[in-house]
Amino acid sequence: MLNLILFGPPGSGKGTQAAKLVEKYNLMHISTGDMFRYEIGNSTELGQLAKSYMDQGQLVPDSVTISMLRKRVEDNPGVAGIIFDGFPRTVAQAEALDELLADMGTSINGLVALDVPDDEITQRILLRGQSSGRSDDNDEATIRKRIDEYNNKTTPVFDHYAKYGKSMKINGLGSIEDIFGRLCEAIDNL
Ligand code: AMP
Repeated sequence: MLNLILFGPPGSGKGTQAAKLVEKYNLMHISTGDMFRYEIGNSTELGQLAKSYMDQGQLVPDSVTISMLRKRVEDNPGVAGIIFDGFPRTVAQAEALDELLADMGTSINGLVALDVPDDEITQRILLRGQSSGRSDDNDEATIRKRIDEYNNKTTPVFDHYAKYGKSMKINGLGSIEDIFGRLCEAIDNL
């Protein structure tokens, strides 16, 4: 299996690039943010719980996120590989993912991080908010909180995989095609 983590702050272009990578490498795409939004759209209990955190720009608790992710992976045996988008966002999530994949006899091949400066991502998220319909994309205080959560809780995930020589930084500025080219080059050299 080819298992990749597409990493980077909110608004760094993970969703856009994940869609292209999925096609090129024939991977299953798992976005925990999309999964939560689906639950919210269906007014499930999980959706309501997730929304109470997402609307504040906070991470959804690990226990909830990990069990949702585990189920999605276990429900899809036999895939060629998985691209994880927006997961793991804490070291506890990374450890749970490593264990889950080890139980399946596989592991993370690499983490590719899109490097985009803070002021650029705030602008990108506000722009996306004009059409995404996402309430967490429209409020500057919520966006700031999401960036804080990323800097405090999520960046250690980069170091977690760097310990095993699996983390790579990619310049996340430029055209969608330029960034995609850089990502493919990094992945092809794994
Ligand atoms: P995203 O679509 O990846 O930007 O995620 C939107 C929001 O969903 C985040 O701000 C979090 O509130 C929540 N979320 C998504 N993925 C995770 C995760 N792996 N752990 C905790 N919360 C998450």
